Amino acid sequence: MSSVAITDIGSLVSNDSNIGDGALGIRTNAAIVVVDGKVAWIGDSDKVADADEKVSVSGKTVIPGFVDSHAHLVFAGDRSEEFSARMNGETYSAGGIKTTVAATRAASDEELRANTSRLVSELHRSGVTTFESKSGYALDVANEARSLRIAREFTNETTFLGAHVVPVEFANRSDDYVELVAGEMLHAAKSHAKWIDVFCDRGAFDVDQARTILRAGVDAGLQPRIHANQLANIGAVKLAVELNCASADHLSHLTDKEIDALAGSNTVATLLPGAEFSTRSTYPDARRLFAAGATVALATDCNPGSSFTTSMAFCMAVAVRDMGFSPEQALLAATVGGAKALRRSDIGALSVGMRADFAVLNAPSYIHLSYRPGVDLVDSTWVGGKNVYQR
Ligand SMILES: [Zn+2]
Repeated sequence: MSSVAITDIGSLVSNDSNIGDGALGIRTNAAIVVVDGKVAWIGDSDKVADADEKVSVSGKTVIPGFVDSHAHLVFAGDRSEEFSARMNGETYSAGGIKTTVAATRAASDEELRANTSRLVSELHRSGVTTFESKSGYALDVANEARSLRIAREFTNETTFLGAHVVPVEFANRSDDYVELVAGEMLHAAKSHAKWIDVFCDRGAFDVDQARTILRAGVDAGLQPRIHANQLANIGAVKLAVELNCASADHLSHLTDKEIDALAGSNTVATLLPGAEFSTRSTYPDARRLFAAGATVALATDCNPGSSFTTSMAFCMAVAVRDMGFSPEQALLAATVGGAKALRRSDIGALSVGMRADFAVLNAPSYIHLSYRPGVDLVDSTWVGGKNVYQR
């Protein structure tokens, strides 16, 4: 048994109302004792028991580590020119993915691993303690499996997204590509993946194609999630609920009926502010989802085309400024919301028995995450009681 005590926490956000005030369970002058990677005790800092190691955070704020439930980390190449052109007036379409596909196929394992490792370091630096990563920039049997194998070196939350876009060699033969994804490609990918995902949208895959692929994934032992309603409303949310997807992501276009369907389901509504920000698109109004009682998550959507950020704090600031979140709702969505979107109950809050995943903020309260946009407040990040980033 190894133990570490984190003491002199000025403001502890536990996300557990039994531990402190409000939905965030905030407690002042607190301490946490971690034993074997899990939270073993939470209480007043002056009453903390002995531990192998004591770390004073000198009055700083501690929050549960961010859970980034939507990211695309394994790829090669750069699309800054495309971003620049878009900011100069061109509109975003799903086709830009093809540039990254060509670069990813051509990259060596070492190059993909180094790129992923750099992004994982960025995530830790931004206070993220659990992250999901999708394939979807290779779009052939061998390279989709390779992307997932490399992603697995960094996270267990890996997602097979062979149905990201129809590759050029299948132009005008999308049903043939769907057959490949749901057959041979899934077979090669499944041992490296926990999830299956489809980009079900205008210019990508239609509802029937998405259903075929997600059902094949479920039959192969994967769990479904979906890219839904980013560019247009083609019925992806209804499919998400029908298939009990863990999460429907983007949701930039939502009818009241779809909001009610999400609220009455086990499907988390995951919003990705970085995508609207970086494509200069209209933000969804999260107040409609909260009013209906839907479970809401925030994620970075880190990817080279439409949201190249690893900063959850940035996403929270945009969500608060432009999507109708309160700072409290944004923090819950970025932590326990993300955990629910990954169907995880061992992360997203700091209660006794949970994995000791947390971030220490150089700030007097969690509100500073959205109150001080663009300022890096993360002082250190801890995963399973181990320090993975120290400023
Ligand atoms: Zn995505």
